[in-house]
Amino acid sequence: MQYDLIIVGGGIGGSALAATMAKAGKSVLLLEKSTEYEDRVRGEWIAPWGVAETKRLGLYDLLMAAGGHHITSHVTYDESYDPHAAEQTAMPLDIFAEGVPGPLAIGHPRHCQTLFDEAVRAGAAALRGVTVTDVTLGSTPSVTYEVDGDSHTATAPLIVGAEGRQSLVRKEAGITLHQDRPHHWFAGLLVEGVQGWEDTRQAIGTEGNFGFLAFPQGGDKVRVYGGYALDEKGRFAGEDGAQKFLESFRMTCAPGNEAISAGKPAGPLFSYFNNDSWTDEPFSEGCVLIGDAAGWNDPINGLGLSITYRDVRVVSDILKATPETDTPDFLAYAMERSERMRRLRFAGQLQAALDMEFGEEARARRRSYHERRAADPALGLHGFAIMGGPDSVPAEIFTEAHREKVLNG
Ligand SMILES: Cc1cc2nc3c(=O)[nH]c(=O)nc-3n(C[C@H](O)[C@H](O)[C@H](O)COP(=O)(O)OP(=O)(O)OC[C@H]3O[C@@H](n4cnc5c(N)ncnc54)[C@H](O)[C@@H]3O)c2cc1C
Repeated sequence: MQYDLIIVGGGIGGSALAATMAKAGKSVLLLEKSTEYEDRVRGEWIAPWGVAETKRLGLYDLLMAAGGHHITSHVTYDESYDPHAAEQTAMPLDIFAEGVPGPLAIGHPRHCQTLFDEAVRAGAAALRGVTVTDVTLGSTPSVTYEVDGDSHTATAPLIVGAEGRQSLVRKEAGITLHQDRPHHWFAGLLVEGVQGWEDTRQAIGTEGNFGFLAFPQGGDKVRVYGGYALDEKGRFAGEDGAQKFLESFRMTCAPGNEAISAGKPAGPLFSYFNNDSWTDEPFSEGCVLIGDAAGWNDPINGLGLSITYRDVRVVSDILKATPETDTPDFLAYAMERSERMRRLRFAGQLQAALDMEFGEEARARRRSYHERRAADPALGLHGFAIMGGPDSVPAEIFTEAHREKVLNG
């Protein structure tokens, strides 16, 4: 029961890290709570810079073989302008990362299962249906867990917390999670039977009191999200909630959304409040955190998967470069992640202010922004950072001066 690495949480980050480190010859124990991955309305869209991370980790071909589907163009609709004009200025999505045709869509349960299977194939000891009952950190880390009615204790020099937002390892390490205030409600649903939606085109748009995002998954399936004001908590509650949600996609400014409204729910409708969170240092003696456990970005940006893949790449590089007799130093990871999350938090705040605020003032601000951006594309560089990565644009984009220019002209 002695390993080089114990990973708690076998979702995207935990399974990807387990596969990567097992391939590097390390003995890895991967502990996953669920017995089956279910649709919990989690990320199914990987930004171009995240796709580049999957390539660097050697996992891209695996995701493509598991049904990964590239999206190659983007349309922004808005109640202030003509839908045909919006479609004529559709943005190609192959411009953000070299050799990447655009974002990659793949269902979250299948994505997790594919990575978990890869970890097993690479030689990790990977367990499902596990209940972790104790985590001890410090100089002699260990994890006690129950599986199939038996209790076990395993030890390793390093425990990785990869168990998502409610991280046990983070709590045990006493690492504070900072969170900013919720900005809007964000509901998501997988829709099938969507006829006539171009399956390589994603779209976003705002009209009235609703902002939508639509990401085709291949075939007739589209993953859709909708944002609405915080004071409308119960808007899609009740048995007919999913139907009411789909109805909200009928918009004058986006006539093609009719196809979504006419589709059928292919999974649960879950709603979350969107906010951002971060940790100052995602490590302590005997442990390191990756993915949502280390703090998440506002899902309005759709970057949790890309962030998690970068975490896996940076942490695995450190582990591979550390001699067995030494303790890995995660300071460089902490510093890089802190700046990465600061920039993405900034981009998310701008995106949320533009797309997920409603009423006259917000509409006028959006309109003014889009008109000014047409004349000065640099105004939209925070959006470029979402697609191309937080380090793909100059640092001055993430300053109050840029925020002021975007929101107030
Ligand atoms: C509404 C919404 C929409 C989103 N859309 C996008 C998107 O389009 N693109 C994108 O990139 N990101 C998106 N995200 C974020 C993205 O889903 C997450 O950032 C990403 O899944 C994080 O990966 P992870 O491995 O840290 O956590 P997860 O994928 O959540 O995996 C954590 C795993 O740990 C397991 N676990 C939990 N507790 C324990 C425990 N005690 N013991 C053992 N196992 C445990 C869980 O069962 C799970 O399998 C979205 C998030 C939300 C809420």
